[in-house]
Amino acid sequence: MRAFFALLARNRLALVGLIVMGCVMILALITPILPLADPDVTDTSQRFQRPFTEGALLGTDHLGRDLLSRLLWGTRLSLAVGIAAAVIAATLGAAIGIVAGFYGGRTDNVIMRGVDMLMAFPYILLALAIVAALGPGLMNALIAVAAVNIPFFARNIRGVTVGIANKEFVDAARLSGMGDLRIILTEILPNVIPVIVIAMSTTVGWMILETAGLSFLGLGSQPPKADLGSMLGEARSALITNPHTSVVPGVMILIIVMAVNLLGDGVREALDPRLRSGALTRPMAATLVRRKGPVPEASDDALLALRGLETQFHVKSRIYRAVGGVDLQVRPGECLGLIGESGSGKSVTALSIMGLVASPPGVITGGAVHYKGRDLIGARYEDLRRLRGNEIAYIFQDPLATLHPLYSVGDQLAEAITCHHNVSKAEARARAVNLLKSVRIPNAEDRANSYPHELSGGMRQRVGIAMALANDPEVIIADEPTTALDVTVQAQILSLLDDLRRERGLAIVFITHDFGVVAQLCDRVAVMYAGRIVEEGPTDAILNAPAHPYAARLMACVPELGEGRRELAAIPGLPPAVNDLPDGCAFAPRCDKAQPACRTGEIALARSSDVRRVRCIDPEPIPEEAAG
Ligand code: ADP
Ligand code: MG
Repeated sequence: MRAFFALLARNRLALVGLIVMGCVMILALITPILPLADPDVTDTSQRFQRPFTEGALLGTDHLGRDLLSRLLWGTRLSLAVGIAAAVIAATLGAAIGIVAGFYGGRTDNVIMRGVDMLMAFPYILLALAIVAALGPGLMNALIAVAAVNIPFFARNIRGVTVGIANKEFVDAARLSGMGDLRIILTEILPNVIPVIVIAMSTTVGWMILETAGLSFLGLGSQPPKADLGSMLGEARSALITNPHTSVVPGVMILIIVMAVNLLGDGVREALDPRLRSGALTRPMAATLVRRKGPVPEASDDALLALRGLETQFHVKSRIYRAVGGVDLQVRPGECLGLIGESGSGKSVTALSIMGLVASPPGVITGGAVHYKGRDLIGARYEDLRRLRGNEIAYIFQDPLATLHPLYSVGDQLAEAITCHHNVSKAEARARAVNLLKSVRIPNAEDRANSYPHELSGGMRQRVGIAMALANDPEVIIADEPTTALDVTVQAQILSLLDDLRRERGLAIVFITHDFGVVAQLCDRVAVMYAGRIVEEGPTDAILNAPAHPYAARLMACVPELGEGRRELAAIPGLPPAVNDLPDGCAFAPRCDKAQPACRTGEIALARSSDVRRVRCIDPEPIPEEAAG
């Protein structure tokens, strides 16, 4: 709730609306106890007094009634009727919409056609017709205004409900034995309330105006009682001679409607989760780069080399150091495994390479990524675009989220090809089918016409791999491509990647949290913890004799076949939060070998043998045969 008001207050105009509306509301509430003249007592000897005369601050009207008093009482009435109409329309409209959306089918059809019929009449004409049928009077005006607004709410809420009623959590509620009413009240309603409030905030002002309009025509409040509309109506004949009698209620209507609408805009902005999270602000085309230190030089023969890469997330005043100086290199045809717990910064490292980390909030604050000797960090967007997918391609974890649901996979593959190559549609299509064959999708010609939802998880992942291969890249970065798959499919995908690597000489960066996968596929492995590499070297050597305590503990968590009974030692504690990293070694708080020296200063990634490096002041000794 406090967050809601904080958000509301950020919108200056909404704050003004809130304050004005608050003042008007308070005035309307305390009107009965204010020392005001009776609003209905006429005194024709005092008619048409100018404002600011003795005893009548805002003057008097054509019957000598005190305008200030009538204004406040009228405001009270107008607000009450307008808000009541909004609440009634919202409640009935939402109820109709929820029922139609929830039950669907024939119920939906019957209800919505009825609503459409109401909507087919012009708005104000319908209200007039209702009042004509019921007879003039404020209560009937209220009913008319509420009735003409019900379709608006019903349509809106039905649309939202249809989307929610087919979600899994509703199915789950149904399976758990909940009745329809309970599902509607506990599962659906909480999800549509923000929409109802938003719709209300945008229509209250409109309904106050409509009520005033009906009263102005003499169909609403009846004399001597007056609301703002009927005050305007009565003053109309004296508009030229005594304009103040019209100006006073007119200005009040203007103030109220303006304030309500400004406030409504603010409420909508604060309640709509998409507006709130800033998701509507599109991320930049490439990650923001703000490097402070010197840019590291390209050094060796590696195809892709990360040097001291630092990526942070700047969220308000907090800084999340997701990647804190990562060094990695991959040679042509090599497969490098990047392994670490969830949240250790593997994905952010991978995305930083091609500037794919969303900015805001992502910022690359240091280091370099050399591809064939050229630095990709801060490269021009056109250059990055040429490389993306063409030379360095990604395979992501969840292909359902990365494939477009409305295009067939063949079309999507063809698009990936025509993006980078000037080939005809037919040729791209033929290549797409070949790609599907090369990732061992059976019956590729037919499958190219399938949509993503028609494929199994394993097949979708193969399509993801095919898409990564589409332009014959030099490097493939695979971010946990098999985590969502079962072990048999996983094994197939891994052997497929391995074959492709040997056939095409691909370099692969394979991100995973699974040592089994690393053992199967990778030549070298880098272990990541809290945004830094803690150990790196040839896969066999590290798997057989890990030197960093963290790598050793991770390995101890992996069960092995034929080893007999053994207790699997979980690592106690949790990884540190990356916005609050400890000094020294980030693993020290969980390490049973930690010494005071571990908790101060920078600990370097030092060579522990010719080909191995470890970031620890007291690593496990490496036996001769595991030196690499
Ligand atoms: P993983 O190793 O599981 O792939 P990630 O690279 O996705 O981990 O995340 C690394 C760290 O960066 C995590 O601690 C995560 O909380 C943080 N992080 C990722 N995205 C954001 C973001 N948009 N804002 C703030 N922190 C983020
Ligand atoms: Mg990840």
